[in-house]
Amino acid sequence: MSLIKTEAIVLKHMDYLEADRILVLFSKELGKIHAIAKGSRRPKSRFLMASEIFVSADYMLYEGKNLYTVTQSEIKCTFFELRQNMNNLAYAAYAANLCDAVIQDEEPNIRAYYLLLKTLQFLSEPDIDASAITLIFAIKLMDFIGYRPLLDQCCNCGKNDIDGSILYFSPISGGVLCEDCAASSDDVTAVNQGFINTVSHILSMRISDMYRLKMSDALKKQLWDVFNRYTLSRIDKHIVPMKL
Ligand SMILES: [Zn+2]
Repeated sequence: MSLIKTEAIVLKHMDYLEADRILVLFSKELGKIHAIAKGSRRPKSRFLMASEIFVSADYMLYEGKNLYTVTQSEIKCTFFELRQNMNNLAYAAYAANLCDAVIQDEEPNIRAYYLLLKTLQFLSEPDIDASAITLIFAIKLMDFIGYRPLLDQCCNCGKNDIDGSILYFSPISGGVLCEDCAASSDDVTAVNQGFINTVSHILSMRISDMYRLKMSDALKKQLWDVFNRYTLSRIDKHIVPMKL
């Protein structure tokens, strides 16, 4: 019998049999895993809280053939304040769903793990700009899983020195296009240099500084529009796109 201790965040759960739950965990050490928390839907279960969405905990797991079994849990954070705020909760659900869609089974991604953990912490603060935080989360997550947008050259022909008052960004191609490539593409959004500079800044900023970036509503709206298409074209699961 092999027992594993891991720190993880609950991305979602499914009811199973009479009183169990199957948890989709984002584990710091193991990547995405599925674990059964037996009896966790009973009101007095010791796993009741540890099987709630967004909770982060240390889990002691028994590795079965197809599924891990939770044998012990020690809560690290319940994100209680987040649960009181319906608006921020919707953004947190989007973040968890996006992780569920892009994080691979049993492939650790520690940067993405800390990104989600920190995003949930920021979304627990009442005065935070939840839309901006979640947008930054989504752009950084794409980078951390290997889909970093290309900003300094045309992602179709490789042409350098792209500048001008109007620039072209193609969510499906994965970055900026030169004028010639943009003319023959039907997936282009005209953007300005401020848009490109903001994406570049988001890619290089530290996770702990995510809350510092202030964006206008117009810029956030355009970033959401572009990056909803950017993420959806790179995942094979359906998730509901987020709006400003
Ligand atoms: Zn080009």
